[in-house]
Amino acid sequence: DEKQWFDLNHCLNTTLTMVNNKLKYICKVEKQFADLPRVYFNVGKLTQVFTNLLINAGQAIEATGKQGVITVHTYLQGKQVIVDITDTGCGISEENLEKLFNPFFTTKPEGQGTGLGLSITYGIIQEHGGSIEVTSKEGEGSRFIITLPVGDNSQ
Ligand code: ADP
Ligand code: MG
Repeated sequence: DEKQWFDLNHCLNTTLTMVNNKLKYICKVEKQFADLPRVYFNVGKLTQVFTNLLINAGQAIEATGKQGVITVHTYLQGKQVIVDITDTGCGISEENLEKLFNPFFTTKPEGQGTGLGLSITYGIIQEHGGSIEVTSKEGEGSRFIITLPVGDNSQ
């Protein structure tokens, strides 16, 4: 395990730069970052989490065939840091919401999605003592909210 005290906004910025090559053709990305205390986390693993969520959001917007926006919002809530990634994509049906974090669940055509992104994401957030929640409405979009504990030694 290679956790370190790190700035979550910085990790998000790095991830956004990496996925920008793909997202710039699909949608706008809006950032709303609050000043955050440092959090103890594995930078590589959280980069993987944010990459998964941002690419999924981009694909959901692409599926609508319309203009769309991804909003990335960070803020402090008590002793927790929140990362809220909201998209105006195709949304997720109630039936699929229940299976979303299951390994190999995908709605993508054979060979195009492994269905592993969100199950890996779920595991990584658990390893960090956090939680991930999703709300969505078909035809309107989806919101993924990640909560991570600030911890006592935050700096
Ligand atoms: P994959 O992307 O390989 O299909 P994931 O675990 O990343 O696997 O996602 C599983 C499924 O969850 C996707 O196939 C899609 O149906 C749904 N999904 C994930 N994120 C979104 C989103 N932001 N908007 C709509 N559907 C989503
Ligand atoms: Mg995915």
